[in-house]
Amino acid sequence: MTHPILIWPDKRLKKPSARVVRFDADLHTLLDDMNETMLQAGGVGLAAIQIGQPVAALVINLPDEEGNQPPENLLEVINPEILESKDEILWEEGCLSVPEYYEEVKRHGWIKLGFNDRHGEAHTLEAEGFLAVAIQHEMDHLSGKLFIERLSMLKRKKFEKEWRRSRPR
Ligand SMILES: [Zn+2]
Repeated sequence: MTHPILIWPDKRLKKPSARVVRFDADLHTLLDDMNETMLQAGGVGLAAIQIGQPVAALVINLPDEEGNQPPENLLEVINPEILESKDEILWEEGCLSVPEYYEEVKRHGWIKLGFNDRHGEAHTLEAEGFLAVAIQHEMDHLSGKLFIERLSMLKRKKFEKEWRRSRPR
């Protein structure tokens, strides 16, 4: 089932996520729900904390050339850790918790990731470009950080102004 997505400045988004130790049916339900919620919202990635669960789990499904996100392209990442990184790229990011706002953020262009799958098996993955950016963006959520916190002071001010204008109280 889908869940409501927490929207900035909801304080729950700042909560650091705990490592997963039990790879049980509850985790599998959470991952299924995260995937469903992400696809319904038209997103390419979602961290568990975005639906209020502070556990180190994220899902990513980057659209293929036709813009589709078939189930076989789904990447489920539990307890991620960046083992190596290199290069720097600027990438325009958005976030389901900061709707309708996009801005360039500086990230590593290449990463080597260590993580567990839903059964607790350990894996490594080398990623570059969009996938590397998406992983780093979602990992920020696990430490309670949003991409707007990586903006320069000037861009951050511009964001807050636009945000207030688009959401009058
Ligand atoms: Zn996000």
